[in-house]
Amino acid sequence: MSPAPLRQLVIAGGGTAGWMTAAAATRFLERGWQITLVESDAIGTVGVGEATIPQIRLFNAGLGIDENEFLAATQGSFKLGIEFVDWWQPGQRYMHNFGEVGRALGLVPFHHWWARARAEGQARDFGHYSLNERAARAHRFDRLAGDATLPPLVWAYHFDAGLYAAYLRRRAEARGVVRVEGRIARVEREGETITTLVLDDGRRIAGDLFVDCSGFRSLLIGEALGSGWHDWSHWLPCDRAVAVPCANGGDFTPYTRATARPAGWQWRIPLQHRIGNGHVFSSAHMSEDEATAILMRNLDGEPLAEPRTLAFQAGRRDRVWIGNCYALGLAAGFLEPLESTSIHLIQSGIARLLGLLPGEPAGMAVLAAEANREAAREMEWIRDFIILHYKANQRPDPFWRAAAAMAVPPELAERMALFAATGRIRRDHDELFTDLAWSQVMIGQGLTPATHHPLADGLSAGDLGGFLGLIDRAISGAVTALPGHADFLARHCPAPRKAA
Ligand SMILES: Cc1cc2nc3c(=O)[nH]c(=O)nc-3n(C[C@H](O)[C@H](O)[C@H](O)COP(=O)(O)OP(=O)(O)OC[C@H]3O[C@@H](n4cnc5c(N)ncnc54)[C@H](O)[C@@H]3O)c2cc1C
Repeated sequence: MSPAPLRQLVIAGGGTAGWMTAAAATRFLERGWQITLVESDAIGTVGVGEATIPQIRLFNAGLGIDENEFLAATQGSFKLGIEFVDWWQPGQRYMHNFGEVGRALGLVPFHHWWARARAEGQARDFGHYSLNERAARAHRFDRLAGDATLPPLVWAYHFDAGLYAAYLRRRAEARGVVRVEGRIARVEREGETITTLVLDDGRRIAGDLFVDCSGFRSLLIGEALGSGWHDWSHWLPCDRAVAVPCANGGDFTPYTRATARPAGWQWRIPLQHRIGNGHVFSSAHMSEDEATAILMRNLDGEPLAEPRTLAFQAGRRDRVWIGNCYALGLAAGFLEPLESTSIHLIQSGIARLLGLLPGEPAGMAVLAAEANREAAREMEWIRDFIILHYKANQRPDPFWRAAAAMAVPPELAERMALFAATGRIRRDHDELFTDLAWSQVMIGQGLTPATHHPLADGLSAGDLGGFLGLIDRAISGAVTALPGHADFLARHCPAPRKAA
């Protein structure tokens, strides 16, 4: 007799991770699966996580979500990139844009042509050749497709995390997910196989496959199954964030702003009904009172709530899949929100689970080993990209001097040395961040290449200037024709004046 197929999926936790998993499971699992989600209203969710990267559009599209409806439901706005203010040095700013920068010529990526032109005194800042950056700085937006002369605009979103989870919940429940409200008090298991979640009122929820979305508590993979923890705080020492929403004020920017502070940095995320703000800092270098005072002094509008502090540690679970339990979201690990990668890690973790979905219990160990290997590499690549922002700095504060002096992971040290000497970029194929992302941040953080690709000497100085001028003029013309970001939202996806 063949073993019984897996049929009962139990999701522990109803934050962004839990409801993204539930919505994807109802969309992609074949009929016959029963999906239950347990969450505790009393415990609540982490309640932050408002900036994303463009891959989320694929997730939403896969679920059949209409972009206008989704943005209206989540008080959302468009995001063309992240502006880094005062990171390399006080007074300097640059952007990590999502779209193309310039254009490759022949075999040679644009940044080599730019590096040569810059050295010859005929190039503006790197971001000047990015359509995304110029549209962002002009506060303009449209769903602009590319053509022969211009790349497309590439966007992600800002949204209210609570409203996004509620939106996904409505969709998931409409497709049959059963939501159970209650506090998980105990996890029963046989060896590494979880059998039942026992709630504090005695209710029992049995399952074949469990997804741990319980947040920092990591109830299943951490507490019950004892997955170890890789602590990365020696590279990423920020371990607190004070968060506060404020009324809209200042520019309604279609980008996230990350401003360096003496012992960390501050985020600014404009939504339709408010601005999300937070100050990420190292508690070894700054008190909570001081961090809160800095945040409250640097808001663009009236605070709309009391500031609240969240504690965390950078790192990842040793294994995200053990037995019949798979962890996602904060239960699986944490990297500070500097490059807005946590929601993406949930999304890619869901894709990995669906790709490696076991059919029966017997096949699980080998699938788990593959998932654990992939998840570890993915987080390490992102970790290194974030460390780069700290390592390459010339700020005076003790926190920043320590960051500049730290020994970074060897792979990152090699990438930085390669780029600084030659402008070449080392990147693994499956890695999240592209050559363009690496080049923008490395240049922005002051790592100007000492030399350029020899083929970038193939144009005369006059022709090189002409090439840059063409790109510049094409971008200028396109940006002038774009509508304002606020006007675009008001026309296509206006949200209720007060969040539902
Ligand atoms: C300061 C900060 C800023 C961030 N900013 C960003 C950002 O800009 N972009 C981004 O992509 N990500 C960001 N993140 C990360 C993002 O918030 C999370 O990845 C995302 O919210 C997922 O959280 P979660 O669902 O894993 O956990 P949570 O939101 O904590 O949800 C956990 C769920 O488990 C339930 N639960 C826990 N214990 C029990 C129990 N005993 N019984 C029953 N239920 C239980 C809770 O009730 C809740 O429903 C940020 C994180 C922090 C800390």
